[in-house]
Amino acid sequence: AAAAARLCSGAGGEAEAADGDGAMLRHLARKLRASGPVTVAEYMREALTNPGQGYYTRRGGVGESGDFITSPEISQVFGELIGIWYISEWMAMGKPNTFQLVELGPGRGTLTEDILRVFKQLASVLSKCDVSVHLVEVSPKLSEIQAVMLTGGKVQPNPEDKSAYMKGVSKTGIPIFWYRDIQDVPPGYSFYLAHEFFDALPIHKFQRTEKGWREVLVDIDPEVPDQLRFVLSPSRTPATQNFIQPEETRDHVEVCPEAGVIVQRLASRIEKDGGAALVADYGHDGTKTDTFRGFRNHKLHDVLSAPGTADLTADVDFSYLRKMAQGRTATLGPIKQREFLKNMGIDLRLQVLLQNSADTATREQLLHSYDMLMNPEKMGDCFNFFALLPHHRLVHPDKKDKPESQSPLPPVAGFNELLLK
Ligand code: SAH
Repeated sequence: AAAAARLCSGAGGEAEAADGDGAMLRHLARKLRASGPVTVAEYMREALTNPGQGYYTRRGGVGESGDFITSPEISQVFGELIGIWYISEWMAMGKPNTFQLVELGPGRGTLTEDILRVFKQLASVLSKCDVSVHLVEVSPKLSEIQAVMLTGGKVQPNPEDKSAYMKGVSKTGIPIFWYRDIQDVPPGYSFYLAHEFFDALPIHKFQRTEKGWREVLVDIDPEVPDQLRFVLSPSRTPATQNFIQPEETRDHVEVCPEAGVIVQRLASRIEKDGGAALVADYGHDGTKTDTFRGFRNHKLHDVLSAPGTADLTADVDFSYLRKMAQGRTATLGPIKQREFLKNMGIDLRLQVLLQNSADTATREQLLHSYDMLMNPEKMGDCFNFFALLPHHRLVHPDKKDKPESQSPLPPVAGFNELLLK
């Protein structure tokens, strides 16, 4: 199949069913028979990150030879512009003498690789800054691919001096550490990055019925052996009580509490130690309903068929992320990918690359990947950028008292037009 990106819900064709080797299905079927239906969140967690059979653990999925393609895999320009975003924020925040770049769910490591190339090219700007890279990755398979991409495979497992499970040095000489959980990353001034990460975290699904809200659960179909089906909880569950707002107007709602917890952690860390977080993903602002879907071999895949062999995903609810920052940081966005990249200067970068490429094939490839990233019908409109920033980055702390005494704060790149000085 031609490499395809995972677009917003509703953008695909018919879902394909497929068989794997069935190990995950047998494991789930045993569990469901023994202890009854599970929440969609529990099903998704098992299917994606079960340590033995999970999709990310075993298959990995990202890239042309995998099940879906992502922006950093489409064009190096994407990561370069994000690298410039971090440098621009680092400068706006007074050039602290050290920072950690922390990426959640780095996939094949391509995005970090492109960012580190920009850091190297701008070494004279960053010269007095001590930079380190911290990758949060649960998949042993993907962490191996990242290690090869970023260090040439020269890594040390279980280093004694750190909470990391692996460490190495980038080809450009920057130390890199791997962790399973954001909580293991040492505190300190940090720039966080989550690209197509939050959409992979487990969601709960709820349905409004005549009797009130019910949670959608996954059960075994009694009529067909080893086939799964959705059922509704017979009564309210703890999750229906906790996650549905009294003023909710939709009939079907998806909530990702794990995303909420991670955003709370990011916001607390930024509030305490400084830095910023950039989140990029497909999503909505609390308006969409049923977005849970699967991908395999670049095609839509039935979410209940052959679990563990397909990627499962749901749109990110940015309004929920904003709420979970709980005012500890300011938030910006979501802003559409095509606007963010335009503000970051993608058109100028494309012109330079076109001028520098001699052959037609490369030029066509450049134009094609630009179209994938920017076209509103492709990734331009349904992918969004969202940022967490310390309050003082947007408003002077004592602005109210002495409005004239302060110089204006520089605008945040990407969310405003980039000022090329
Ligand atoms: N950012 C990459 C990859 C996106 S796929 C890109 O855009 O190309 C999602 C990534 O998140 C994978 O690396 C997957 O292994 C990782 N992942 C999924 N669930 C995770 C979890 N709970 N904790 C840490 N990493 C996770």
